[in-house]
Amino acid sequence: MDGKVMVTGGAGYIGSHAVLALLDAGHEVVVVDNLVTGFAWAVDARATLVEMNVADPRIADVLREHRVRAIMHFAGSVVVPESVNDPLKYYGNNTVATRALIESAVAAGVPHFIFSSTAATYGTPARVPVAEGDPTVPINPYGTSKLMTEAMLRDVAAAHPINYAALRYFNVAGADPKGRSGQSTVGATHLIKIAVEAAIGKRDAVGIYGTDFPTRDGTGVRDYIHVSDLAAAHVAALQLLVERPGESHTLNCGYGRGFSVMEVLDAVDRVTNRTIERRLEPRRAGDPAELIADNRAILAALPWRPQHDDLDGIVGDALAWERTLAERQA
Ligand code: UDP
Repeated sequence: MDGKVMVTGGAGYIGSHAVLALLDAGHEVVVVDNLVTGFAWAVDARATLVEMNVADPRIADVLREHRVRAIMHFAGSVVVPESVNDPLKYYGNNTVATRALIESAVAAGVPHFIFSSTAATYGTPARVPVAEGDPTVPINPYGTSKLMTEAMLRDVAAAHPINYAALRYFNVAGADPKGRSGQSTVGATHLIKIAVEAAIGKRDAVGIYGTDFPTRDGTGVRDYIHVSDLAAAHVAALQLLVERPGESHTLNCGYGRGFSVMEVLDAVDRVTNRTIERRLEPRRAGDPAELIADNRAILAALPWRPQHDDLDGIVGDALAWERTLAERQA
């Protein structure tokens, strides 16, 4: 296909894996990243990196120069508790900046847009597994900022010649199995990242946020999806958008099964053959007990099938990347 795929946030965790998946599938890629939380070294050398905000009007030039035929939009702010304390940052970086990017896309005639949405759009789900048609009632500004973007895309796709896929991510974890990228974010808050940091001695323990949830062992249950499977879902979604220009899609990205915090830590212990110290702590504000994707829609819409849906494998890849990072910093 003619022209490039623009990947915003391509120097970040999920975006850098999408860049690898696109390049490996033979697409040409231009990354737009302001490098506030991302790293230039995380961008594969086969891609072009442009250091710029997505809301910058000069995006129009980048779209034209690289003959961009699709945008995958990962750039944004992603820390839920921070969104509670600084909501305007989230409405600015996620909703307002994305509005500008969509406007540039429409003006340049970019026909396809893939958006990083989130299971946080559901809030506390009415039922588990949660399906795309279930109520979306976010319980934090992060989820609201993403849901507002979904609404913009829906309305813009009805008015202009552009179609979109809004992919609602569940809990993304792991790292490129070939060791080319991983989660490098400083001050990460996500469970598997924290647990592998503890496993290699970067932390002395892992806090368990709540042991009194109505789940099988009292700890929170989540649907952990390997980042490379998620990246592959984006490439497959792009293909669908190209083949069916009149259609847009909102799809959960998860495996349809959940693991508790205890089960995740058991996996880390198994993979490392040691025992991480667990500290029982109170619940974190706004954490639902259980979040699991009903993934029938994505399985029906795309030829995508999970390739890395083994918890020990996810933990193993995350751990290998954590060791790479530690060597890099040594
Ligand atoms: N969690 C935990 N200790 C940590 C980080 C997370 O017990 O240090 C729990 C959290 O309460 C939730 C699950 O692990 O039940 C996944 O949390 P994470 O922050 O990774 O993702 P979230 O589901 O909040 O997006």
